[in-house]
Amino acid sequence: MLVKALMDRGMFALMGLPTCKQVEEFAYDFLEGALDAKTARRLERHLKACKNCQRFMVAYRKTRDLEASAPRPPLDPSFKEEIFKFLTKESI
Ligand SMILES: [Zn+2]
Repeated sequence: MLVKALMDRGMFALMGLPTCKQVEEFAYDFLEGALDAKTARRLERHLKACKNCQRFMVAYRKTRDLEASAPRPPLDPSFKEEIFKFLTKESI
């Protein structure tokens, strides 16, 4: 318990590495490759040492990929009909 508290609060900071909270905050930029090299390296070092953040990063990436590849919802059929009516009315 004490070790875990130390890990979360002080150990990474003492090593000059980002804390778990900072890893979460940087996750998006990290996956986008938007972090500067120095910060990205520090984040990677934290990830190597921290199972929690490894799991977080895997879950975060999955969610992001799912959102990116999600198909657009198909047009509502009644909406299509409305457009059709509108178009045919306009063309008269
Ligand atoms: Zn962590």
